[in-house]
Amino acid sequence: MDTNTENKACNCFKDTLNRVKDHLTEQGKVPADAINIGFRWQGQSMILTEGEYSPANPKVEVEFQAAKKGGGHARNKTKIDISIMATHCCYCGREYQRNNA
Ligand SMILES: [Zn+2]
Repeated sequence: MDTNTENKACNCFKDTLNRVKDHLTEQGKVPADAINIGFRWQGQSMILTEGEYSPANPKVEVEFQAAKKGGGHARNKTKIDISIMATHCCYCGREYQRNNA
């Protein structure tokens, strides 16, 4: 397996999304005469800083029942989720080039 270490940005996510789109359209899962068709990576985030980022990133879900002041624990769970920014493209293994200055 080759490791893509070129400085050139890859289009893996864009290409994969297009393949999914073609596949679903060919299979008729998305009717050819449908309108306002949207394809996007779930959880895709807008990144405002310079550099390359993966449009989809792993997410960590945290949940716990917090201790109450008077003893015992909260009935409901507190939930937090955190996205972890991928450092490499998951398709070609290329390291994302970012300006970390
Ligand atoms: Zn790639």
